Amino acid sequence: VVRARGVRRAFGPVTVLDGADLDIARGEVVALLGGSGSGKSTLLRILAGLDPAASGDFTVPAQHAVVFQEHRLLPWKRVIDNVGLGVDDRTRCTDALAEVGLADRARAWPIELSGGQAQRVAFARALAREPSVLLLDEPFGALDALTRLRMQQLFGRLRARHGFAALLVTHDVEEALLLADRALVLDRGVIAADLPVELEHPRAPDAPGFGVLRRRL
Ligand code: ATP
Ligand code: MG
Repeated sequence: VVRARGVRRAFGPVTVLDGADLDIARGEVVALLGGSGSGKSTLLRILAGLDPAASGDFTVPAQHAVVFQEHRLLPWKRVIDNVGLGVDDRTRCTDALAEVGLADRARAWPIELSGGQAQRVAFARALAREPSVLLLDEPFGALDALTRLRMQQLFGRLRARHGFAALLVTHDVEEALLLADRALVLDRGVIAADLPVELEHPRAPDAPGFGVLRRRL
């Protein structure tokens, strides 16, 4: 569902992306790893259509949704209205809120939520768009360890139910092993490695520990 070829982006004299290629199949979750400053967020922003200055060929379905490390909820809108931005179908919004376990906070203001709750609302806002692809930039990066684990498990359940594909930018190798089918490593402006993530046991998102993972990275 996502295909990118020869993506380039420079900031002044500094070339950050120098011909990055990537493919994401329908329903596939692909982790994007790489050092700080390697261009992961730059590539995600390009795919999300947020960087008109980039060059290269890429196709991303119109039906995509983006979740950033920060929730980016509008503080002057109630939770349900944040989820419903640009979505006509209100039941879809209440369903999405229920799916992230926050049906009872629909009328709350963003400032009344914890960081983890706000990020769940950000996921609900994404889900309400019924995306075929999610573009996620370190979506669990700002959460404490326990909340992060719960959110990772929630992500697994949402994925099982909705079947979306995702590009998951993370610098957490553990997270890539838990959640992704494949891991890409961005280095010096190109995708330098493309590694399958192999599990000794099938993923069971509800099970503690997700089963034993064989490390390939
Ligand atoms: P991190 O893991 O720290 O989030 P990243 O891999 O997401 O890093 P990017 O944010 O994509 O890295 O940044 C890649 C490089 O591009 C960095 O050197 C950064 O300084 C530079 N860069 C990104 N955005 C801009 C901008 N708007 N103007 C100038 N330089 C930029
Ligand atoms: Mg980044």
